[in-house]
Amino acid sequence: MNSWNRVTGQRQRREASIQKKIHPALPKILTEFRAAEKAWKILKESDRTPERRGEIERRLDEKLEAIDRKYSGPVQAPKGTFGVEAVFREETLASQSESAAVAEYLHWNRHKTSFGIDVRGMQDKDYAASTRVQRTLHDFEMLRCNQGPVKPFKGGHEGTDHWDFFLVGWGLGLEKLSPEELADFCDEHCLCGSDNHNPDNLKQQRIRFKRALKNSMSVSENIEKPGKRS
Ligand SMILES: [Zn+2]
Repeated sequence: MNSWNRVTGQRQRREASIQKKIHPALPKILTEFRAAEKAWKILKESDRTPERRGEIERRLDEKLEAIDRKYSGPVQAPKGTFGVEAVFREETLASQSESAAVAEYLHWNRHKTSFGIDVRGMQDKDYAASTRVQRTLHDFEMLRCNQGPVKPFKGGHEGTDHWDFFLVGWGLGLEKLSPEELADFCDEHCLCGSDNHNPDNLKQQRIRFKRALKNSMSVSENIEKPGKRS
C-alpha cells in the first residue's frame, strides 16, 4: 500500500471510530451553534443590538429543543453525565433562568470552577471562594447594566481555549475520542472555525477541562467511582 492510501485508510478508520463514539445529535447541535455564531458575525456593527442577539438566541434555543426532542430517549442519563451539569446548577438548568446561567457561565470561564460550589464556600467563610463570587457578580453587573464587555477569559496555554466546545460535547462522546479523532472531529465541527487542529494541543486542553469539570461536579463521585484511587 503506498503512503497516500495508508493516510486515507487511517483517516477512514478514524472516521468510522468517531461515528461509533459520538452521539448523532452532537454534530447537529454544533451546526446550530455555528449557524448562530455566523448569523451574528455577518451583521453590520450598527445592527448588533441586544434585540438582534435575543432573536438569534431564541432561534438557536428552538433548534436545540427540536434536536433534544428528537434524540432524547425515554431513559434519563445518570446524574453527572454531561459537562453542563458541572457549570450550571440544577435549578438553573430546570428553570432556564438566563441571568443565573450567565453568572454561572462567567464564573466557570473566569475561575474554572463552579459558581454553586463557590457560593457554598462563601457561606462557609471561604474568603478565596467569596472573592471569586464577588468578581463574577462584578462582571455580571457590568453586563446587566450595559457597561460591558467584561475582560476576556484567559486563553492560550493555561486558559480555556475550546472549553465551550468541550462543554457542549461532554457526555455526547467528545470525552471518548482519541486525540487524533478529536482533531478530525474539531476540523469539521468546532466552534472556533479552524480546520487544522493540533491533536496534542487539544489533548492538553481536554485534560485541563476534565480536571476543572471533576473539581466542579458537586457530586464528583459520579465522574469517578467512589473509592477508586486516581
Ligand atoms: Zn477549534
